[in-house]
Amino acid sequence: MNDSPTQPAIEALPAHEATVGGGMQVRRALPHRLHRRVGAWCFLDHYGPVTLAAADAGMRVGPHPHMGLQTVSWLYEGAVLHRDSLGSLQLIKPGQLNLMTAGVGISHSEESPAGHPPDLHGLQFWIALPESRRNGEPAFDHHPKLPAISRDGLDMTLIIGDALGERSPARVYSEMAGLDIVCADAGSRRLPLNPAFEHALFLIEGGMTLEGKDMAPGTLYYIGPGRESITLGSRAHARAFLLGGVPMKEDVLLWWNFVARSTEEMAAARKEWESKTARFGEVHGYDGPRLVAPELTTRLRS
Ligand code: MN
Repeated sequence: MNDSPTQPAIEALPAHEATVGGGMQVRRALPHRLHRRVGAWCFLDHYGPVTLAAADAGMRVGPHPHMGLQTVSWLYEGAVLHRDSLGSLQLIKPGQLNLMTAGVGISHSEESPAGHPPDLHGLQFWIALPESRRNGEPAFDHHPKLPAISRDGLDMTLIIGDALGERSPARVYSEMAGLDIVCADAGSRRLPLNPAFEHALFLIEGGMTLEGKDMAPGTLYYIGPGRESITLGSRAHARAFLLGGVPMKEDVLLWWNFVARSTEEMAAARKEWESKTARFGEVHGYDGPRLVAPELTTRLRS
């Protein structure tokens, strides 16, 4: 999918199916075996759209720990209630950002609130924290208002980082961008990119073309560094998400809900969660059990 020999190739990376709390099916686009990360973006789940029956509990992800990463929650339909060990209790709705910075350790739960709207559709990301921040204090931020950018028939929301001369208020610790993109109607548009970034584009709804080729649903389109722009086309209303960032040089490991640099760090964190030390704190008010860490039996490799 290379429109000119001087442009970096675009690679289509199919997501795989996974199941998360409450039995919800998701499409997991990152990490992918061919590209573990896109900039510091190291995890991406796309869930829904699903219609929940009134009696359906919906999302139920019991208290679990994180370290070394930020979680980014972005909704298209529905509502999710976040609780964490800092005492945060935050409902998130479409168009709002929940950003949790785990640092050295935090725990949280996520659930569909009582009397939840019937539809649920959203994205869950993780951002790997750099060495300078990964052992820092945990934090939680809710951003109800984010920069809106309208350009050339594209209606965009900058949820993370810097793009198109705008900056998101969300605290991040590497050069990156997360841009929600809506094509309001039919047309072909050129979207400028930061050539220092690697990028990836994921179709959320409707039909869209990238460099003139149809995008498949459930597929992450990886765009290597050095590209000045992409061309997006649509025949009707459509939506995609663009993530980007400076390629991360550190050897980042993911295991369970942790991001670290060595198997020993993972084993130590697992032990602290299972023995309920103060490191990951405690989530109050969630009606259900905390998650149990799986066994860590092999040496991890990035
Ligand atoms: Mn989590």
